[in-house]
Amino acid sequence: MASADLTPLVTGNWKMNGLAVAEGELAKIVNGAAGLKAELMVCPPATLVASFAAAARGSAVAIGGQDCHAEPSGAHTGDIAAEMLKDAGAAAVIVGHSERRTDHHETDAQVRSKAMAARRAGLLAIVCIGEQRAEREGGQTLAVIGRQLDGSLPDGGTSANLVLAYEPVWAIGTGLTPTAADVAEAHAFIRKRLETRFGAEGGRIRILYGGSVKPTNAKELLTIANVNGALVGGASLKAADFLGIAAVYRSA
Ligand code: PEP
Repeated sequence: MASADLTPLVTGNWKMNGLAVAEGELAKIVNGAAGLKAELMVCPPATLVASFAAAARGSAVAIGGQDCHAEPSGAHTGDIAAEMLKDAGAAAVIVGHSERRTDHHETDAQVRSKAMAARRAGLLAIVCIGEQRAEREGGQTLAVIGRQLDGSLPDGGTSANLVLAYEPVWAIGTGLTPTAADVAEAHAFIRKRLETRFGAEGGRIRILYGGSVKPTNAKELLTIANVNGALVGGASLKAADFLGIAAVYRSA
C-alpha cells in the first residue's frame, strides 16, 4: 500500500492543559469531525481521559493518553499504567514525547518499554522522535532519529499497534517549522527504516509530523510524501484551529 493511501491521523496533544470545562471544546471537535477523510484523536491530561472517552464514545474522535508506565500496576506513585488508560476508554497513548525525554530524562529504552506496555494493554503507541536544534545544525538529524528508531521501537511493529511522530524538538511550540524538503527527507528516512525492520507492515505504519502545525501551514506540511497526519500541540486546544488543520483531509 502506498503511504498516500493510509488513513491519516490528526492527534491533539493537550499537554498539561485542560479542566473539566474543556469538554465543550471536545464537543466542538466531535461535531466538526464528520466528513473528514482522516481519523481524529485528542490526548487530554490524564484527569480528563475517562470523561472525554465517555463524551466521544461512538463518534469519529478517539481519545488517547500522553504517557504511561511500563508496568501494569505496582508501587509507582503518580504514574499511570497503559491498562488504566485502556480501562478509562483510551485507544492510544503518546510515548517518548520530547518533553518527557527532557523533563523526566526518559531514554530510548524506557520509551521502548512504554510502547511495549501500550501494546500489552491493547493501545496504539504513538512513539515520538526528533532532533534538537544543535543536532540539526550539526547535520546529525538522520543519525539521531535513526538511533531513536532503533532504540525506541519494539519488535513486531504493525499499523495496528504503532504510529510514529517525527517532531523536531526545535519546532515544538516555537512557531518554527522545517522546510518541506527537510520534512520529506526525514519522513522518507523513517519510512525506509520501518520497512527494513518490519517488512511490508512498515509501509503501513503511519508517520505523523509534529511541530508548530497550524491551520495556515497544515496544507503545505501534511501533503508532503510520507506524512500521514499530524501531532498537534498548541493549536489542538481550540477546536476551530484543530479542525482547521484536519480540514486538509476534508473530502471535496
Ligand atoms: C507537540 O507538543 O507535540 C507539538 C507538536 O506542539 P506544537 O504543535 O505546539 O508545536
